[in-house]
Order: sequence, then structure tokens, then C-alpha cells
Amino acid sequence: MEQKLHIYNSINRQKELFEPITPGHVGLYVCGPTVYSDVHLGNVRTFMTFDLVYRYLSFIGYKVRYVRNITDVGHLTGDSDDGEDKIAKKAKLENLEPMEVVQKYTNGFHDVMRIFNILNPSIEPTATAHIIEQIEMIQAIIANGFAYESNGSVYFDVRKFSEKYPYGKLSGRVIDDLYTNTRDLDGQDEKRDSLDFALWKKADDSHLMKWNSPWGIGFPGWHIECSVMSTKYLGKSFDIHGGGMDLKFPHHECEIAQNVGATGHEPVRYWMHGNMLTVNGRKMAKSEGNGFTPEELITGNHKLLDKGYSPMTVRFFFLMGHYASTLDFSNEALQAAEKGYKRMCAAMKLIPQLPASATSAYDTQKWRNECFEAMNDDFNTPIVLSHLFEGVRVINSAKEGSIQLTQNDIATLKLTFEDFFFTVMGLSSEEGGENSKLSASLMEMILNMRTEAKANKDFATSDKLRDALASIQIQIKDSKEGTTWTYEG
Ligand code: AMP
Ligand code: ZN
Repeated sequence: MEQKLHIYNSINRQKELFEPITPGHVGLYVCGPTVYSDVHLGNVRTFMTFDLVYRYLSFIGYKVRYVRNITDVGHLTGDSDDGEDKIAKKAKLENLEPMEVVQKYTNGFHDVMRIFNILNPSIEPTATAHIIEQIEMIQAIIANGFAYESNGSVYFDVRKFSEKYPYGKLSGRVIDDLYTNTRDLDGQDEKRDSLDFALWKKADDSHLMKWNSPWGIGFPGWHIECSVMSTKYLGKSFDIHGGGMDLKFPHHECEIAQNVGATGHEPVRYWMHGNMLTVNGRKMAKSEGNGFTPEELITGNHKLLDKGYSPMTVRFFFLMGHYASTLDFSNEALQAAEKGYKRMCAAMKLIPQLPASATSAYDTQKWRNECFEAMNDDFNTPIVLSHLFEGVRVINSAKEGSIQLTQNDIATLKLTFEDFFFTVMGLSSEEGGENSKLSASLMEMILNMRTEAKANKDFATSDKLRDALASIQIQIKDSKEGTTWTYEG
């Protein structure tokens, strides 16, 4: 493995040479979704960022164990220690079992990952399946003197911890500043200090999701699950931890404190944070009302969308920005991505027809190396894409006969597009055809949406889906047995 990969390590605020703990192997942990609602496109951006990381590490030869969890308990509406459990709240609202909510949105999340060609992780653990391990880690933290019980809940003692270990390094927060920023919150009186955060919370009778523990009936805090599941599957110290920028504080800062508090080890070698997808400069978020779902994206059925866009266009659009920069959504940017993506697909189709000559007028090997160099420079996909566009120019010139390529050059062009366009960046070509696994799952998802819309008597949406499919030469036919489709493109 000769690749000298450099990664921007958020905790040290600099690019560093990537050296895994065990040569040839990488442990990668990424915070997964809280499954209480449909994912929006902002969430997809973060999961696609780490899909790229997973793909590239695997491509350059590492054996990667990729753990991406599902948060199915403990994430409260206040994103801190206050409020209701997001899943329990939804369950009450929809009159469902909390686990029905979890299943419904986990399924939806998986559908979305599939249509964006985001690979499955090696392990997808859930918080509710690791309650015992969470209790054990909390006990270890208490035994080390960094947590205390109060009225059936357990809190992490930030002040005590900070006397022995650094706290706040990842987020750059200084303890004394934090005091001025804390609000008076529910349950604060149980805490010795307003900076302390919950590891375990006592549940009252009306609480839906609760378990027995040494401290009585309750449920785990939000942060402890990730400390537990990363340690269990990747060890006390592991290579890369990822998540969206908005999780740096409190979530990731608390994770570090918990791990160090329980094991005495810094858990993570490289912290990676994906930046936000924004709309007119504001973070895309459910609470902002500016988040659209993949369904809305495909149909174009949302006030922010001029038309529908394919998942691969969106993937291309995401890749046009570096993962650590904010990316602002706009119809113009998506249309530019659509055009670029189609241009690249069209050029790739020409490669097998290119005439070979005895002499070469273009150094394809140097060009291929530049693609690796861009990826090795903290996964710089906008630069990789600019190199691939240079490849498009070379292909088109060779086709017209204005540039000469040898058989070897043509083979290098083909291999490089296969490696970077398909394998590393996870794009697929436009014309999936009926045999493509991706188009099959995509179609299944769209047809399910249409069936659901019809069941809800939302004929505007069901017609829009049918028309959108017809516009890309996909005809659907309803019968008693269900809906079938044919591609006539
Ligand atoms: P959640 O389900 O809210 O915990 O979010 C799942 C993941 O999506 C987290 O890693 C968040 O950081 C990330 N995320 C949320 N909103 C955005 C956004 N607008 N752009 C990019 N990532 C986001
Ligand atoms: Zn997490």
C-alpha cells in the first residue's frame, strides 16, 4: 500500500498522515440516524461523505470494519438532557409502539441509502440492543470517580473529569465559558454542576422505553451508546470516528469524556466531521422546514425544487463540494451537476470506440496519479472530478481524432473511470437498465411511494410519480397482481 493518505483531523485542526493502529486494517465508526422521522437530504450528505471514506479506504486495500449505529432510544428533543425521547414522542403521536416507529424509519433509512448507492456498514448496532453494555460502562465511569447517582439518574461529573483529563479539546470549548452559556434546564437540580450530562435517566411511569438498572428503572443518555458500541466493536482506541459537524458538541465531546472516564484511553485517532448542506445559507433541518425528502427530490414536488432530480445527480452534486465545506443547495447548482454528470456518462460510453494509435499525445498515467493524489489529500472529490473532466476532454478529442492515444492510454482511461467514477465515488451510469440492482431497488421504492400515495387518496402525488417516470421512458402498469414497470429508453 503506497498511498499516503492525509486526513484532516478535527481534534488537532490539521491534516495528518493516516496511519492505522493495525497495519492494513481500519476501524471506522459513524454516528447513524435517530430513527424517528424520514431522513432529509442533509442527513444523506453526511452518510454519503462517510460512504466515500469507506469506499476509498477499501479501494486502496485496507480491510475496513465500518460500524454505523442506529439511535433508537435516548435522543431527547432538547438534544441534551431535557425534553422527551424523540422516538417515544413520535410513537404517542402516531399511536404506535416505539419499536414500530423505529422499524418504520429504519426501513425508510435503508431504502434511501440504497437509492443513493450508499454501501451497508459492516455492523449496524442499535442502542436498545446494548443496554447491558451501557450500564456496564456507566458503572466503570462511576467506579473511576467521574460520575455520580442522583435521584435514580446518573450524571457525568465534568468538573472532576477535567481536573485529571482535558475536556473540550474537540469542540474548542473552555469550561469556564460554558458556565455562562448554560440554561436552567429540567432536572438541573439533580446535577451537582450545570455542565454535567446524563449517562442514565430515571423514567417515570408514563415513560414508554425503560429498563431496569442498578439505579432503578430508566433509560440511557444519548451519548453513551456511541461510546459503548464503538468500544465493543472497534476496541478502546480505534482509527476514525465520523459524523456531521453539528455533532461535535455536545455529542462527540461527551463521547470522548465517557471513553476516557471509563477506560483511561483516548478513543479516537482521527476525528472527521462532514459539513452541512444548507439552503440559502441555513442548515437544512427538519425544524427549519427547509428539508426535503428523497421522494420530493425525485418528483420535484417541493416549493424549493424547480423540477425532479435523480439520486445520481445529487450524488454528483455532493461530490462537487469538499466534504468539510458547507454546500448550499440551489436548482442552478443541481442543474449544473446534472449536465456535468450526463457529459461524463456520455464520454465514458465512447471509450470502447476510441481509435488506438502507435504514439501517445497525452500522459494518461500522470493523469491517473493525479486522481489518487486528490483523494489522498483529504478526499478532495472536487479536484478528482476536475481531473475526470479533463479525461472527458481527452476522450472527446481522441474521438474527433485531434489527440492521439495508444491502446495503453485507452486502457488507463477506462480503468480510471471505473475506479474513480464507479468504485470510489459510488456513481452509477445513467442507463441502469432492468438488470441493475440499483434501478430495481429504486423502482421498488418509487412504486411503494406511489402505492402509499394512492392509499392515502393523494392522487396528485401518484400521478406526478407516474408522469415523472414516463418522462424518463419508464412505463408502469397496474394490475390485480400489483404494479409492473418497463424501461423503453
Ligand atoms: P440525526 O438523525 O439528526 O442524528 O442526524 C444524522 C446525521 O445527519 C448526523 O451525522 C448529522 O450531523 C447529519 N446532519 C443533520 N443535518 C445535516 C445537514 N443539514 N447537512 C449535513 N448533515 C446533516
Ligand atoms: Zn454518536
